[in-house]
Amino acid sequence: MKIGEAQMHNQHIHSITIVGAGTMGNGIAHVCALAGFPVKLMDSNEEQLRIALQTIEKNLNRMAEKGKINPNDVASTLIRIQTYTDINQAIIDADMVLEVVPEHLSLKKLIWNQIEQGIDPKRLKQTIFATNTSSISISELAQGVTHPENMIGMHFFNPVPVMSLVELILGNKTSEQTFKTVESLTRELGKIPIRVHDFPGFVSNRILMPMINEAIYALHEGVAEKEAIDQVMTLGMAHPMGPLRLADFIGLDVCLNIMNVLHKGFQDAKYTPCPLLREMVEKGHLGNKTGQGFYIYDV
Ligand code: NAD
Repeated sequence: MKIGEAQMHNQHIHSITIVGAGTMGNGIAHVCALAGFPVKLMDSNEEQLRIALQTIEKNLNRMAEKGKINPNDVASTLIRIQTYTDINQAIIDADMVLEVVPEHLSLKKLIWNQIEQGIDPKRLKQTIFATNTSSISISELAQGVTHPENMIGMHFFNPVPVMSLVELILGNKTSEQTFKTVESLTRELGKIPIRVHDFPGFVSNRILMPMINEAIYALHEGVAEKEAIDQVMTLGMAHPMGPLRLADFIGLDVCLNIMNVLHKGFQDAKYTPCPLLREMVEKGHLGNKTGQGFYIYDV
């Protein structure tokens, strides 16, 4: 099925509310709307919503230029996205809420609490709750909700319109029905779902982040220059991007948060975040999004 042609909707999910319109939220809104779903995109920051819509339009136009979608799909996709700064308006009649706010447990718990309070109580039992967390325990996030069986991890990869993987993470109470509904939705979005269990970092970040952290240690200890470290991994291991450039792309704050989750979750010193990573985050050098990380970028 060509992207943009999916009109046979999930029987359970007719529209999708996305809370958080940053790097990942705008990409998720893009793929959901392109697949034909009405999308309510919510962010507490109005400027972020404006940037998100601009980014989605730019990325859709690029796909049309490359012949990946029909040029007519650009306007019809954008029309399906409504933006909100008021969370209650965005979620009141939601079939599914996808939470895509920054990777902080306290913030995510607060948001899930607001979502629970804001949804029409008659709908709560059947609403699907998905979180795009990179590393926080789904079971822990689900502790605060009335229907933990409806909560699942739906971990998209950046850039969302391009990357085909979605890790689907089952918390200890996630029902098989929730999994099946979200698995079929993932396919409708043109993505490939992979089922994983709820361990710190799941599969992807448990493997990826220690590698990135080790690359930062190599730089910190003077093993080689940043370009050399990246080249070893692109030329020698056939990685499409070196680990330091990838860290910039993901966001160094995101990398640090995930290392902290791994460190705390496994209580193992091998997951200690590199001091250089901490230092860069403290200085606000977060990678592509701030214009400076290990490399310099235009913002
Ligand atoms: P981001 O900082 O780019 O975007 C987060 C958005 O949430 C911002 O627009 C912010 O304004 C908004 N927000 C903050 N508080 C809010 C609130 N109270 N209500 C509504 N909106 C609020 O972050 P991101 O990189 O998109 O990451 C979001 C989530 O996705 C995190 O859990 C992260 O771990 C995960 N993730 C990130 C990547 C990545 O490569 N960046 C990849 C996979 C998963």
